[in-house]
Amino acid sequence: MTFRRRDAAGFSGKIHSMERALHFIAGEMVPSVSSSFMENIEPATGKPYAETAAGDARDVERAVVAATEAFPAWSGLPAAERSRYLLRMADLIERDLERFARAESVDTGKPITLARKLDIPRAVSNLRFFATAVLHTSSEAHFTDGLAINYTLRQPRGVAGVISPWNLPLYLLTWKVAPALATGNTVVAKPSEVTPMTASLLAGICREAGLPPGVLNIVQGPGDQAGAALVEHPRVPTISFTGGTVTGAGIARTAGPMFKRLALELGGKNPNIIFADADMDTMFGATMRSSFANQGQVCLSGSRILVEAPLLDRFLERFVQQTLRLRSGDPLDETTQHGALVSEAQYRKVRHYLDLARQEGATILCGGERSGDLPDRCRDGYFLQPTVITDLPADSPVNQEEIFGPVVTVMPFTDEAEALHLANNVEYGLSASVWTRDINRAHRLAAGLDVGTVWINCWLVRDLRVPFGGMKKSGVGREGGNEALRFYTEAKNVCLATPALEKTP
Ligand code: NDP
Repeated sequence: MTFRRRDAAGFSGKIHSMERALHFIAGEMVPSVSSSFMENIEPATGKPYAETAAGDARDVERAVVAATEAFPAWSGLPAAERSRYLLRMADLIERDLERFARAESVDTGKPITLARKLDIPRAVSNLRFFATAVLHTSSEAHFTDGLAINYTLRQPRGVAGVISPWNLPLYLLTWKVAPALATGNTVVAKPSEVTPMTASLLAGICREAGLPPGVLNIVQGPGDQAGAALVEHPRVPTISFTGGTVTGAGIARTAGPMFKRLALELGGKNPNIIFADADMDTMFGATMRSSFANQGQVCLSGSRILVEAPLLDRFLERFVQQTLRLRSGDPLDETTQHGALVSEAQYRKVRHYLDLARQEGATILCGGERSGDLPDRCRDGYFLQPTVITDLPADSPVNQEEIFGPVVTVMPFTDEAEALHLANNVEYGLSASVWTRDINRAHRLAAGLDVGTVWINCWLVRDLRVPFGGMKKSGVGREGGNEALRFYTEAKNVCLATPALEKTP
């Protein structure tokens, strides 16, 4: 599409031929009130390839008005009807899977094969799961000594504000949008400005599915403007946020005194605890994925690998060999296993930790540099080799802080107690993996780990019914399954006197 770029100061006069991600408000694709756009960079090339409407408080206001107006009718629909809209959206995304996967790959730098296999199918599952979950819920009743029957009404809370990050854009957006809509809320969503594209495609799907205007609104733009305005908005009583811990703390500072309901899914520094008796083939396969899938930009990545001391040398030899075999390349190439980091800022952040590791005397067993051997198109992209680091103390910032890139550290432990101590000795508490054939040991560790999710002899096996969230600085609250249905609804107790029952002999 050819169009003139405008900014707050008016037409710049420059002619562009680029895709645009606009806002989706009251069923219409609209530019910002300010008419401003932001450049959207393709991580694989480091070059702008699209423009995103730069929303601010005025766009959020329009979206909240639309969502507020749509709420009575949407919440008044039978659950089965709301369910049908979501199922239609899921079908349409599935129909357009290839288009969505390509958009996600271009926008994030992830291999298209991953977007096709994981991101987009999971978005479809999120919609289907919550569309059908609301058809099978029940609520509690309590009988009070023949005096009364109490029953619990679970009612939608109004306009839900959902804010999602760039690492799994459509996957995490739908993880929030689906339960919010299914339970009868209307939504204003703020995707990451870094990856606006699949949210923009989702807007098209909403229109095609006939979703009533204002039920789902999407405001694009910078987090500190559009995102902050959503959190601050007095008519948005529910905020679900996935992103970094520092951003989450700021959101909590705003939302707390306003008594908003808040779910925070934040960062992780997850231990991957490997005992010498583990099934080696399964463990290596999963550990490669938990280390480097999505270039390590997964909140659940097992970025700290703890290995029982007698296994350490054998582990490192095989793990490094496998890491060196990962194929880096153009994310759109079907054979690529390792793509680009999402942005220059993220690339610099990860490199900062590599510099720090070197300064602290770490051994970098492989990686640590820009990926070589890339096609011409990717010359200026944000590619970093998968990196394995050892010989750092447990309290090094590299072992303590979330790097969110293709970098893992490996530390030995001598016994179960030390493994548990190392695993818990960070400020985060999102997830952990334990690899052992000793099932009693696995259960002991599972009980002792300060995390929201423990995987035993697996990683990232996700069942959408289970509670999902973190402890410590990894977040507050749980989503997933019934937890999400509860989060997006208000429990109201209704107490009905039962004098007739009282008189029954
Ligand atoms: P950020 O915290 O930077 O951003 C997350 C979202 O918040 C984006 O949409 C961002 O917008 C928005 N935002 C930024 N500032 C504000 C603000 N002041 N008020 C409201 N919203 C704001 O995280 P990243 O996008 O960098 O994502 C990576 C982080 O997400 C990692 O720490 C990762 O661990 C975490 N994460 C956690 C998961 C979990 O389930 N626990 C899952 C996936 C990721 P914009 O991008 O436009 O600035």
